[in-house]
Amino acid sequence: MGLAGCCLAWQRHFRGEDFTWEDDDRPGSASRVAAGLVNPVTGKNFSVSWRLAEFLPEAEAFYARVGGLLGKTLWFPLPVWRLVGEKEWAKVEGKLEEARPWIVAVEEDVPGWRAAVVLKGGGRVATREFCEGTREYFLEARRLQNGLARDAPATGGDAAATVLCEGAVGLIAGRLGGHRCAKGEILTLRAPGWRADRILIGGGGWLVPLGDGVFKAGSTYVWDRLDGEPTPVGRARVEEIARLLGGADFEVVDHEAGVRPIVRKSQPVIGPLEEGRIVFNGLGSKGSLYAPGVAGRLAGWLAKETDIEPGLDVRLL
Ligand SMILES: Cc1cc2nc3c(=O)[nH]c(=O)nc-3n(C[C@H](O)[C@H](O)[C@H](O)COP(=O)(O)OP(=O)(O)OC[C@H]3O[C@@H](n4cnc5c(N)ncnc54)[C@H](O)[C@@H]3O)c2cc1C
Repeated sequence: MGLAGCCLAWQRHFRGEDFTWEDDDRPGSASRVAAGLVNPVTGKNFSVSWRLAEFLPEAEAFYARVGGLLGKTLWFPLPVWRLVGEKEWAKVEGKLEEARPWIVAVEEDVPGWRAAVVLKGGGRVATREFCEGTREYFLEARRLQNGLARDAPATGGDAAATVLCEGAVGLIAGRLGGHRCAKGEILTLRAPGWRADRILIGGGGWLVPLGDGVFKAGSTYVWDRLDGEPTPVGRARVEEIARLLGGADFEVVDHEAGVRPIVRKSQPVIGPLEEGRIVFNGLGSKGSLYAPGVAGRLAGWLAKETDIEPGLDVRLL
């Protein structure tokens, strides 16, 4: 299961509702390769992430709760250093006021850059550990349930609801009509000499410390070849980003690729499809931030407690 399916599973579980799941574990699943980066202010336009003040605390509380149950730390808060070059400084400077609540400092003395905007609210989610831990947790729960009560029902609550959390695979198959899915490549690097106390973002890429001298660097955006195959061109581009942000002294230990599920304004969507099933998709490049809160809203709607808000409603896509 990816981030969408796993978060929905937990939100159902927290409400005391049962579920089953199917996943064919196909290669290229975005959640398996994601760095789990949460960046409060993103992109060339230096824009505060959509509804950040609402979704970030929900995500933090969610990962702490699940981490407690799995016996793992899943959320690693870290300052984000947004490195800004001379050419883009005028644009970023014009957006500083809007981003003010998330800015800790503007450092002017950063070799090779015009400035670094230091941001709070960022960090890393251990996405792979979260997805694998979730799967094991519920498989074990199911085994226990079946052992204790062999004829327990397979599903409870709204047993008729099937929720498709298919990521890019579903979008590419045309589940929601048009899409803007983007392939990305990512490297895992060993670089014991690099600073590991911050996330670096700049030059169109990022560098995220995982601990023990290991980093993730990424990423590329490709729209015309949507597969999970790492390429030499992708690797060269991410190595270039790594050299720019970290330096020349690193060893590549892994190279992966996946496809980001992107629709509409790069915002997630939930709700019923005409064919009767329900969808949760469109987590884009920010699944770590949005999946917990959006899954919570979907669980509330499945339980017939709340309506789907217009900003998330797939019927308004
Ligand atoms: C290179 C790269 C880097 C990224 N970095 C970050 C990052 O730093 N921070 C961040 O927040 N986000 C990042 N993302 C985005 C993030 O990965 C996605 O937002 C998120 O993982 C999407 O989760 P999902 O569950 O919707 O899709 P997926 O993770 O793709 O999961 C979909 C699952 O559905 C299964 N499936 C599909 N169809 C079927 C079917 N018919 N039957 C059974 N099973 C099926 C698949 O096997 C898969 O397990 C990155 C993405 C990429 C590609």
